Amino acid sequence: MPAKELKEPCMECKDAEFQITVRQRKLCNSCYKRFVAYKVIARMSRYRPYGLDQPRHQLLLPVSFGVSSSVLLHILDTDRQRRLDESRLVGYDFHIIVVDPSTVSETARASFDQKFELMQKSFPAHTFTRVPFHSIFDHASEMEEIMREYAGTHFKDDTSLSNEQRLAAFRASISTATSQADIDTILLTRLIVAFAKKFECKSVLWGDSDSRLAAKALAGVAKGRGASLTWQVSDGMSPWGLEFEYPLRDLYKAELLQYESLCPELSDIVIPDQAPSENVLTKNLSIDELMLRYVQSQGAKYPGVMANVARTANKLESSTSSAAATCALCAGLLGNTEGNTGVTVANQAQDNHSSQFCYGCMRSRPEELC
Ligand SMILES: [Zn+2]
Ligand SMILES: [Zn+2]
Repeated sequence: MPAKELKEPCMECKDAEFQITVRQRKLCNSCYKRFVAYKVIARMSRYRPYGLDQPRHQLLLPVSFGVSSSVLLHILDTDRQRRLDESRLVGYDFHIIVVDPSTVSETARASFDQKFELMQKSFPAHTFTRVPFHSIFDHASEMEEIMREYAGTHFKDDTSLSNEQRLAAFRASISTATSQADIDTILLTRLIVAFAKKFECKSVLWGDSDSRLAAKALAGVAKGRGASLTWQVSDGMSPWGLEFEYPLRDLYKAELLQYESLCPELSDIVIPDQAPSENVLTKNLSIDELMLRYVQSQGAKYPGVMANVARTANKLESSTSSAAATCALCAGLLGNTEGNTGVTVANQAQDNHSSQFCYGCMRSRPEELC
């Protein structure tokens, strides 16, 4: 068959015009999607079955309707379907959990019900669970006491209020944007872990891109949370007895955006990132948000440097031993027990509560009145 007349063929299949340049390779759209999917599927190889009699792993996939987690869902679903079509073993099932974005952030209110329905329709092979953020009181009930202790005398937990109002009051007691974002992340993690245990999942698959992991590593250090960076950015065991995996770690945010733009079925599902507003004062941004902006702007210029941040952080070994005391809220090392490598907690003597919380959490705590 005569070769097609192509002006500049895709370097991979040589059968279509190239559309996208990625990492110095000129690819057509389908080869680009395959390139992105490969980066994810390669990370999932440890869950592949070796024989028919192997039990299927149960995996939990939290989806926020942002670009990254939606693309992760799309890739895993496509791979699963392809394997089934080819009568190959899949090796795992994944449960999708959605913490209703409208209960997490003010900015995500609009038309979420529709998006959720559409996602269920688009990915019918999976089970979906949708919960509001404040259901943490129902599903991770141990958090109630921990949150009360953590907030200290500054905050009165009125149990006659609805869970929604109680969570709102707790969040409102935390003063800065950085601390709020910090504590929200911990509470969301605890809620998701509670579901992972309920569904007897082996792992949680987090949808963090390379860019997000680099931002988390830098922000974690700035917030005094260096000791818990291991499970927040590296693959492996979390303090809650199940594994955390980051299958998007080899992909930049811009590459995920590009993938999403090639999947029309995702266009009505994904909640686009909010464009950085010129009006927001830098001092009102959380450190997490600042770092993400920094990594995204610098990553566009020097992608290798940012990739290196996340790659280096992934090599961190967890120093948690079963004997080490850990924080009641975030499970980070307390660092106040002899022999620990963690950070030092200030104000131990004056404050009984602080003995069960780590330095990072204490820094985000509602301020005590002196
Ligand atoms: Zn191609
Ligand atoms: Zn902590």
